[in-house]
Amino acid sequence: MEVLVNSWIDSLPRRLREWMEERLEPEDDYGRYMEGGDFIDEEFIQRTLKECRDPSPGEVRRIIDKAVCDKECLEPEETATLLNVRDEELWKEMFEAAGEIKRAVYDNRIVTFAPLYCSNLCVNNCLYCGFRRDNRVVRKRLNPEEVRAEAERLAAMGHKRLITSYGEFPGLSDANYVADTLREIYSVKVRARKGWGEIRRVNVNAAPMTIGELEMLREIGIGTFQVFQETYHHETYARVHPGDTIKGNYHWRLYCMHRALEAGVDDVGIGVLLGLYDWRFEVMALLLHSRELEERYGIGPHTISFPRLRPAANTPFVQKAEYKVSDEDFKKFITVVRLSVPYTGMILTAREPEYVRREVLSLGITQTDFGSRIGIGAYSESYTEQELERQQFELGDTRSLDEGIKWLAEMGYIVSFCTAGYRCGRTGKRIMKLLKTGKERIFCKLNAVLTYKEYLEDFASEETRKVGEKIVEKEMKELKELVPEKVYERFEDYLKRIENGERDLYF
Ligand code: SF4
Repeated sequence: MEVLVNSWIDSLPRRLREWMEERLEPEDDYGRYMEGGDFIDEEFIQRTLKECRDPSPGEVRRIIDKAVCDKECLEPEETATLLNVRDEELWKEMFEAAGEIKRAVYDNRIVTFAPLYCSNLCVNNCLYCGFRRDNRVVRKRLNPEEVRAEAERLAAMGHKRLITSYGEFPGLSDANYVADTLREIYSVKVRARKGWGEIRRVNVNAAPMTIGELEMLREIGIGTFQVFQETYHHETYARVHPGDTIKGNYHWRLYCMHRALEAGVDDVGIGVLLGLYDWRFEVMALLLHSRELEERYGIGPHTISFPRLRPAANTPFVQKAEYKVSDEDFKKFITVVRLSVPYTGMILTAREPEYVRREVLSLGITQTDFGSRIGIGAYSESYTEQELERQQFELGDTRSLDEGIKWLAEMGYIVSFCTAGYRCGRTGKRIMKLLKTGKERIFCKLNAVLTYKEYLEDFASEETRKVGEKIVEKEMKELKELVPEKVYERFEDYLKRIENGERDLYF
């Protein structure tokens, strides 16, 4: 492991401005997207939230029905109306509607993944982050062998899908490094009980990139490219992301999904860090971002993420944060996002403790992680307790993947390890259409059962296998009614072949 002491920080200010100017290449200049301002019109958001106060129950119910039936983004005024509901009975109706949309679009599937932190080298100074450059932690970057070893450990647990995460550092933790890590991870193959384990989709959570860099990652086979705006509120953004950092540039970050879509990276993930500013404002901004991408490119966000601020080592900002989101408001946030952008995937992470995860899963969550570790090299056996304390933040749920799968199965959810979508070209506009019409649900249901079966055969404990087999039986019955006979026959054939050790069969 490359361990860099903090002396690199001392030479930073000298070189940083030059490097930041170089990053903003003319063809990537966000100015060309902005006609008289960016699409986060704060005056419009605040005014709309104000004008939609005290909505009538009739109007709220009309909007709920529209969300459930149309599966299209709501109008900003409609989202603002939902955010202004005070009547708890109406909220209950909204919780139910959110669950109904989730079931219609994504059924009872929960996609699972694990985070893989590759580097904490970072030139940025985000006040809420344990990896910020003023926090004198030990800086580490996994070398190719270590990336491979971490991916092998994750594949040996049964994971098929990762989200890799990186700090931002010129020449060391940049697009080329991301590319190298993707190549390593995709080359992994480990032996399992009957078949083998491998990582089939790598989503990337990294700093904004240029179009050229994103094209390079698309060619390697990046899954979703995730960049969270953290907060869309301009003034708060400037306060928590100091101006002498590249992250301090709000628009470079805001328009990175425009560049990704222009680079042909079709699946993009947006998000906010809840606790930095008013959560109702952030919902409105996420809606405006989704609508902007749809209007300009015909492709909305593949996923929306909404981690809540968590304590991190030596990061007093978090304790003092004035916009912390309570559990009750967290539920409401998830519900209104689900109703406002019905087709999008929604990611709930292991930052949240079990009781919160249990409570909000049914409101529209489509992806969650288990067995997660968030330190650099944290899946290695030599990772120490001391290192654990220096992570970017603290986790709220540390259950293993097997425990998570059993837990979900007992609640009737099937965990999907499916990664077929992007390998069959079901991304971008195509996936948007399939999601909105409910057709993707069928492909996903078939593939969820096939990949779940792989997990049960290769990695599950005896207890998980028992509960899991019951889920498989139930899904098979439902599929028999849902799909044409020929498709069902092919599906049964695939299941038998999986039992016999074949892997990666999908529709
Ligand atoms: S949040 Fe990301 S960019 Fe900001 S300091 Fe942490 S690692 Fe760096």
